[in-house]
Amino acid sequence: MKIGVLALQGDFREHQEIALALGHEAPAIRKGDELVGLDGLIIPGGESSTIALLAKNFDLINPIRKAIADGLPVYGSCAGMILLADRIVDGAANQETFGGIDMVVKRNAFGRQVDSFEGEIDFNGSSIHGVFIRAPWVESVGEQVQILAQFQGHPVAVRQGKLLATSFHPELTDNALVHRYFFDEMCS
Ligand code: GLN
Repeated sequence: MKIGVLALQGDFREHQEIALALGHEAPAIRKGDELVGLDGLIIPGGESSTIALLAKNFDLINPIRKAIADGLPVYGSCAGMILLADRIVDGAANQETFGGIDMVVKRNAFGRQVDSFEGEIDFNGSSIHGVFIRAPWVESVGEQVQILAQFQGHPVAVRQGKLLATSFHPELTDNALVHRYFFDEMCS
């Protein structure tokens, strides 16, 4: 499949490497017309306010919103989770999101307690290693949102239709379970 990776800032190369290792194409996406013909899109971890600003400067906000509305499968990790949230708490001034998942995400929520930590998480019935870096958590979700993982009582992986978001960074581990879930269950 052709899985685009939004490549404005953050750890997009790690996501590209996983998609390539699993036999997919993984073009870097920096322009609206590069969204055409994708089977899926990944929004990486990084700094959501910077990605949002760059997306605005690169005229990508509306094309990505339209692609989401048209049903493109999208997976966001960490900053990517924030960018897929319809509503955020503790965003930077006037921080925009692409939206699509009916949830409230609290930016830097775990990060307020400790900048970076790791822990075992049950993701949709499988145990995986979660890497959290100034990570958000999900404060509340709408009825359409399925919670796939929780950590310390907070949802950290959610799905709504063709949209998937995790607070943690599977791209920084050698376990591709979350990516496989996205590619196999949501993109194909
Ligand atoms: N705290 C970052 C943000 O607001 C996210 C951190 C990350 O992606 N590791 O975007």
